[in-house]
Amino acid sequence: MIVEVAQVKVAVVKENARGERRVALVPDSIHRLAQIGLDVLVEQGAGAAAFFPDHAYAEAGASIVSHEELFDKGDILLLVGAPAAADIARLAPGQAVIGMLSPLTQPELARKLGAAGVTAISLDGIPRTRPAAQTMDALTSQANVAGYKAVLVAAGAFARFFPLLITAAGTARPAEVLVLGAGVAGLQAIGTARRLGAVVSGYDVRPAAKAEVESLGATFLTVGAVADGGAAGGYARALTDAEQRAQQDELNAHIVRHDVVITTAQVPGRRPPLLVTARAIKDMRPGSVIVDLGSGPLGGNAALSEPEATVVTDNGVTIIGAGNLPSTMATAASAAYARNVSALLAHMVSDGVLAIDPADAIQAGVVVSHAGKVINPAVAELLESAPAAGGGADEPGPDR
Ligand code: NAD
Repeated sequence: MIVEVAQVKVAVVKENARGERRVALVPDSIHRLAQIGLDVLVEQGAGAAAFFPDHAYAEAGASIVSHEELFDKGDILLLVGAPAAADIARLAPGQAVIGMLSPLTQPELARKLGAAGVTAISLDGIPRTRPAAQTMDALTSQANVAGYKAVLVAAGAFARFFPLLITAAGTARPAEVLVLGAGVAGLQAIGTARRLGAVVSGYDVRPAAKAEVESLGATFLTVGAVADGGAAGGYARALTDAEQRAQQDELNAHIVRHDVVITTAQVPGRRPPLLVTARAIKDMRPGSVIVDLGSGPLGGNAALSEPEATVVTDNGVTIIGAGNLPSTMATAASAAYARNVSALLAHMVSDGVLAIDPADAIQAGVVVSHAGKVINPAVAELLESAPAAGGGADEPGPDR
């Protein structure tokens, strides 16, 4: 089934989620969209917080418009996050929205967009294991930024040096850093901590991660309790309760001899596994730092971590629940996101028109709703099992 949806005018929305500084398209990407026959409208000030001024977009060929004009004239609204509730009410059937819509955790938003006749496309559904989709993989590009920044955040909170320093005033021993979870963010954290001169160890339940960790000059920790936690498609599986307990016990002994622990473990669709227990934290040395990238409303990888908050325990351990780290590096994160979104548009636009084709493997992952209904099977299934929430489009959006 190939259905033509609309003649395409791409509209870049100014993000309004609290603390969000990223923008979905940067001036350098406009040329690529022009090549595939797309016009670009940019909301006034959309890129300002990421240091892309309006005049840079205008010089690259975009038209700068007001918020109202953007929603009236735009065919495809581009965002980093989800549209605000008030903006969902403005959308007309046939318009499309592209962003990180988190439909598996925010299915109500998908339901609303579907009911409004909006084509909702979510970049967090890009199938990570398909090589052809790598250029579109926004979760990866943003996790890369987060892994890098997590190390800088840890170094900022750590009261000693990361590298070995030999000075006239004495020798400082290097920091010992442990990175738990060696996926995209974890490997970037390992590389960054190494570049800062720390002695780094990495751990993951997937045995395949060992070679990647070691290729970055770090030591791979082997935990006998879980010989192989790998699953299909290169992902990890959820551990059994008994495995998780045994893993925690074994990890505790490693955690307490490190100065800095950065946690990045996740199993798609599950709450983050708890790897750093309260007991391990109690036994860590004063001055130790934990940065928990898994921290969120469902908990984190570290006990006591709170999303977007820093907790200092009685025994002097600083636990940082990472917030939106890519937003703190808005220029780099936006440029990478813009390349992802441009690659997705290049994949989906044919003859200047957005063509929805659920039979295409990439579109099957990203197209959430189209022609009045939720068409992504996983999201549709979630919605079937949950009754429709009342309130309509005027209630506050999930990210606002
Ligand atoms: P990823 O899927 O690439 O990596 C996660 C890794 O965790 C995988 O290698 C997996 O094998 C491993 N893992 C799963 N269960 C484990 C366990 N029990 N023990 C050890 N390892 C285990 O994910 P990613 O893109 O690198 O993201 C990592 C985390 O960082 C996620 O929780 C993600 O939501 C978060 N993140 C946070 C920010 C932020 O700004 N706060 C930004 C991006 C990503």
